[in-house]
Amino acid sequence: MLVEAANRLNVQVSILDQGDSGPAKQLAAHDQHIQGNFQDAEKIRELAQRVDILTVEIEHVNVAELIRLKQENPKLQIHPSPRAIKIIQDKFEQKRHLNAHGVPLPAFQEVKNEDELKEAGKQFGYPLMLKAKRLAYDGRGNAAVHSEADIPQAWRSLQPEGSQQALYVEQWVPFAKEIAVMVARGRDGSVRSYPVVETVQRNNICHLVLAPAQIDGTVAARAKKIAETAIISLEGAGIYGVEMFVLEDGGLLLNEIAPRPHNSGHYTIEACETSQFENHLRAIMGRPLGSPALKVGAAAMVNILGDADDVETMKPCVAALSVDGATIHAYGKGDCRPGRKMGHITVVGQSMTQVHNRLRSILKAASPTEA
Ligand code: ATP
Ligand code: MG
Ligand code: MG
Repeated sequence: MLVEAANRLNVQVSILDQGDSGPAKQLAAHDQHIQGNFQDAEKIRELAQRVDILTVEIEHVNVAELIRLKQENPKLQIHPSPRAIKIIQDKFEQKRHLNAHGVPLPAFQEVKNEDELKEAGKQFGYPLMLKAKRLAYDGRGNAAVHSEADIPQAWRSLQPEGSQQALYVEQWVPFAKEIAVMVARGRDGSVRSYPVVETVQRNNICHLVLAPAQIDGTVAARAKKIAETAIISLEGAGIYGVEMFVLEDGGLLLNEIAPRPHNSGHYTIEACETSQFENHLRAIMGRPLGSPALKVGAAAMVNILGDADDVETMKPCVAALSVDGATIHAYGKGDCRPGRKMGHITVVGQSMTQVHNRLRSILKAASPTEA
């Protein structure tokens, strides 16, 4: 989707990625791509030699190499800054950083062993959320701990025998809703944020996004303020996704930040005056940021997750063909594995009521048992 936006702007994107025909490489037809791992220092170096600006669309990259490259050549543009990526990569460091900048967070604490987790349980109460500091996505680094008796199993699930994976613990947040705010920041420091959206996760994976979030306007305004404060505390240009919890009383706690285009911002392609992808490009290139305003009354996005086979997986897309206001994005990833994000559908409408009506057949096709 970043390459789609880049193509329209006549910006050439060279991609470092494991495959030779991934979706991004399919869309950018030239011989300047690199095949390799984004942890591989040599490959990152090779890419840096070929481009004017380096950016990431996943935070789990070899950030030490990015820091070295920047030290060797301070003029090389890397966005967001390697320092920001380094902080965000480690969820515990991220929380310490945000806490120091006055951002509201659930209580959290480092835990080096099961005894320390037991102590945290006495302090925070149960349930608790045990989390891996690094390499987390789609909830894979999380384990809910419901009581002291749960500790050994939860610990082993995140730190199996021989693993060096560092963990920390968070107070359980009994949220009423989850929301997200995309914030774009230009090279000149200017900031523009998108409407607050509501995200619905299923099995820890984003299932549905509703824009705008159906929450009180004052809560939405506070959410934007918190998101912008958090992003301003980090260095470097680009688009950032800020995930937050809304409590029953309207209180807000930040969950985590993604230093890149975010699943909760995919709807912006059809629903906003400038998509998150175009604004990321504008931001890192030092161009003026585009308007993030909604240009439709309301929008929703449904993720297409891999099912038993291609036919099952694509059923929501088939349903979407008969829905006014629906746009299908099938990514062309090839291998369809259960739970893998294979695409998404955006539905726009004049009002949230209309969007909900339009969504019905698509959601039913996505999870027939629940509908
Ligand atoms: P992502 O794919 O968004 O990067 P992740 O693996 O980094 O996910 P988190 O965002 O930390 O995981 O958590 C995934 C989901 O688990 C959240 O969206 C939320 O639904 C739930 N969750 C996380 N932390 C807590 C908490 N402290 N209390 C209650 N629920 C939580
Ligand atoms: Mg995450
Ligand atoms: Mg998350």
